[in-house]
Formats: sequence, structure tokens, C-alpha cells
Amino acid sequence: MTTNDILKQFSRRFGERAEAIPLDAIARKSLDRRTFLLGTTAAGLGFTRIVGATPVASPVSDIDDPSRLFSLGIASGDPLPDGVVLWTRLAPEPYTRDGGMGEAPVEVAWEVASDEGMTAIVQQGTAMAEAEWAHSIHVEVSGLEPDSWYFCRFRVGDVASETGRTRTAPAPGAMPENFRFAFASCQRWDHGLYTAYRDMAAQDVDLVVHLGDYIYEYRVSGDRLRGGDFGVLPLSESNNLDSYRARYALHKTDPHLKEMHRLAPWIVTWDDHEVHNNFFGGLHWDEPAAALLLERRNAAYKAYYEHQPLRESAKPTKDGVQLYRAVQYGDLLGFTILDTRQYRTIQANPCDEEARAANGGYCPDVMDPERTLLGAGQKEWLLDSFEHVTARWNVLANQVPFSRIDYDGGPGQSFGGSENDKWDGYALEREVVLNAMADASTARGFNPVVITGDVHANYVWDIRRDWDAPEGESLVGTEFVGTSISSNGDQALKKAGHFTTSCGNLRGNTHNHLYDNHRGYVLCDVTPDQWTATYRVMPTVEDPDAEGFTLTSFVVENGRPGAQTDATCTPEG
Ligand code: FE
Ligand code: CA
Repeated sequence: MTTNDILKQFSRRFGERAEAIPLDAIARKSLDRRTFLLGTTAAGLGFTRIVGATPVASPVSDIDDPSRLFSLGIASGDPLPDGVVLWTRLAPEPYTRDGGMGEAPVEVAWEVASDEGMTAIVQQGTAMAEAEWAHSIHVEVSGLEPDSWYFCRFRVGDVASETGRTRTAPAPGAMPENFRFAFASCQRWDHGLYTAYRDMAAQDVDLVVHLGDYIYEYRVSGDRLRGGDFGVLPLSESNNLDSYRARYALHKTDPHLKEMHRLAPWIVTWDDHEVHNNFFGGLHWDEPAAALLLERRNAAYKAYYEHQPLRESAKPTKDGVQLYRAVQYGDLLGFTILDTRQYRTIQANPCDEEARAANGGYCPDVMDPERTLLGAGQKEWLLDSFEHVTARWNVLANQVPFSRIDYDGGPGQSFGGSENDKWDGYALEREVVLNAMADASTARGFNPVVITGDVHANYVWDIRRDWDAPEGESLVGTEFVGTSISSNGDQALKKAGHFTTSCGNLRGNTHNHLYDNHRGYVLCDVTPDQWTATYRVMPTVEDPDAEGFTLTSFVVENGRPGAQTDATCTPEG
């Protein structure tokens, strides 16, 4: 199939519009801007404000106000034993095309201290915030001590950001007694409040892992839940650089999200909505038919990098973004961070149940040997990574559900759903990964865990080598699927009068331990002996004062694959 055919198929199935939509409102607003220039003080940190020809409506004091200049907050990410990435983006007018910064580069000073008062500075330097990268900066700090908390701050002239907190990874070979992280996904801005992040902020986590759908590209349907003045909202669907940037600004000005970035380092990867719904990047991008989509993809990739605490190695090039990577927490835990969007081939054609029944429960097209979720390079890298695992817990940080899900509650079998967008839609490749994971975990003595986002619901699955094995047999590892922060909002509550929780055997899937459709995130406490996954959920995402609570928790013991069913799980609905 040519790229042109694939694009036609794509348009039919997803109603995609490839043409660009100009965001006139944002473009106009950006004319009302100021320009920052580097000062000439000895420290090089002073800056001079030059007011352009266009009259400036807002008071001059705005940009002396840290809450305006650092309106998108500060962040850190991708910890190493001796360093982290520090991130910020200067944006005194976050919803305008240029963030209110104009074209000139601005020097930003950064400091890392061992105390919250920022008196014991251990590393410092300057970085240039440039218009080409939306005045974002990504500083790769090194020379820090392993497994330690640090505090960090940015300054432009005498305007300082808030002080953030970050933590380095343990030294190679170290075996920490415990490690606490949270994982989250899917934060559609107009579907609900980010109060789950307020709950997370109270958990004192060492790290946050975000599994994608950090933004949604869709037309924003208003600010019913948020109130406030958002100035020029990026209302139409994001599809070019200006509108993706504005979309990140919209999400990132949320106070709970900002606070969570301030409190701990993050590891991020993307899912589809960072580009568009059900995005697959495995096209022949050099074919003329793909040009408009390529422009959109490149804009989305660039805006992603500009707004996340990623290393230089993830800076977009003409070939894309190197997002799959590994992050090691000593010999306790290793994250293998996947990118199942950029290289995947188009989802398999849907089919009827008759065709599925004749093909072992899968749509025939799923079995196309050319079909890939990872792409050749990432697949090779992943398979090779299993051969070098030294950590006790090997974590695939992944977007889409890995475990087989039978949607047919009766004796029949039906996999892949209507979209064939998950690993069930790429079942041949999954079997290759699964077998390698199973063999290596036995040979090297590690515990495979998959953490997953995407589906706006909580699930716990035993990963089985033979999916048809009887309950409790053929166990390889565990998959924890975390629900959304806000996507789908209180939909289930409004429809049924309650959220739905079931504590195993979902539609007859004997490897299932949990299904639940609250909003929230998953808190993981990892020790050398066991992994505890605590499902924290919100009673509603429409009440700013709503308190999170523990729905249930599951334990995996070292050397004993499979989740231990928790007696605290209470079915509802
Ligand atoms: Fe989502
Ligand atoms: Ca069945």
C-alpha cells in the first residue's frame, strides 16, 4: 500500500483534515508584544525591556512578576545518578503566539542547591532562551550526588522563578530500600479539573512518569469548569506550531499540574493526542502525499520537546524524535520507555465478528507480518535491552494496553476492539516481545512490569506467555493500567450514577484483577521484595475541593509473577 492509499484510508476512518487552519486570533494577539534583549551587566544577567512600536496594553510590572514570566512553571526530568534536566519556558503572555516574548534571545540563569533556601549552591550556569524554541530552555545538569534531593531555580535579571525540587537516580549497582513513583496519563483540559495532581503532590513521590496524552489537540469546548480569564483561547483543533504551543500553554497553566512539576522530576513519553487521535507515524514521509501531515507532525513534535524536560537527545530533527530510552534506578528498577506512536504502521482494518471467529478472535489484517507497533529500530533495541537487565524490576513504560483482552464474555473470542489500536492490534509483534521478556526474566531473574495509560480506566492484568492458559498459570509479569487524570471526566458517574469497579475476571478474562473507571493515577512503592500499586482515584473531577482516596492496591512479590488480588477491592456497578 502506498502512503497515498494509507492517507485516504486514514481520512475515511478518522475524518482527519490535513489542511492547515490559521489561528488568526492568536496571530493578531502576538503583534501586541514586547521584546527582551540581553543586558550588558558584568554577570550578563541583566535584561533590558524594549517596548516595540505597538502600544503595550498591559502594565509594565507584568514581566517583573515571576508568576507572569514563569507562567508555565518549571520542571525537571530524566534523572541520572549525577544529574537531571531542568526545564522552563518564558511566557508572560502564555496564550499568544510567542508567549509575549518577541524574537530576541534571553539569557536565563539557573541554580541547583542542596537546600530549599538556595544558599548552598552546588551547580549553576546560564542558558539561552531562543524564539526558535519558544523561549524554552533544557539544561542538562551534571556533577550531582546520586539518590539525593536538590532544589532548583531560574532567574532572568532579578526576576526569579519559584524554587523547584528534584531528585537524582541511585548510583549504578545500588539497591535502594524503597522507591516511590506515580504514573499518570490523559489530561484532557476541558474534561475535568487536575485535582488528582493535588492528591499526588501530597504523596511525596520521588518521580512522576507520564505515559502520554499530556495535551489533547481537539477543539476546546470552553472553560465551564475552570473559570478565569484565558485571554485568547486556542479554541480550534491544534494542527500547526502556533496552535500546538498554545495548547501546551493552556494545559501547563493549570496550577496542580504546575505544582506537580515543581515538586519532582518527570519521565515523559507521548501517546496519540500529542499529534492527533490514533496517530501512527510509520508512513513514508518523503512521499508528496504525506507533506501536509508531515508538517503537522513536525509541529507537534517540536512543541512537545519545547514543553517537556527532555534531553538534547530528544530534540526533533528531520528524522523525528528519539523518545524511546532507558532510565535506571540502580539495581532496584529500570524503566524502558517506549514510543508506540512514532513508528507504528496504520491500525489493522476493522472486521466483523464472523471474520474474527474464523481467525482465532483477531481481525485477519492484524496478522499482516509487516505490521509493527515499535518500528524495526525500537523493536531491536527493546529485545536487546532484555538481555542486559540488571535491575530487579524491569518496567516497560508504555502507552497502549499490552495484555490480551477478550471482549467476548461468552465462549467466543474477540480481540482488538473496533480500532485495533492497542497491542492486540499488533499481536504478532507482541508475541515476539512477550517471549523475549519471558525468556530473559527467567534467565536473568528479573520481574517484568508493564505500566500503561491511554484507555481512561484502571486495569490490573497478569501477563501470560500463553494467554489461553488456566488461571494462575504461564505467568510472566504484571500490567498495571492507570486511568486518566481528567479525560472522560465524570461521564460514567453522570451516566450510571456511579463509577464502575470490578475486581477481576472482566468479561471472563481470568488474567484480569481489576477494572475501574474513576479518574486518578497509580502510586507505586517499590522495594527489593515487592511492588505495591495503589490506585488513587477522585470521587469527581468537577469539584475543586474533592479529595482523592485509595480505591484498592495490589502487590507483586519478587520472583512470583502475577498480581496478588487485594481483598480491599470493592466492586460497584
Ligand atoms: Fe487519552
Ligand atoms: Ca470469551
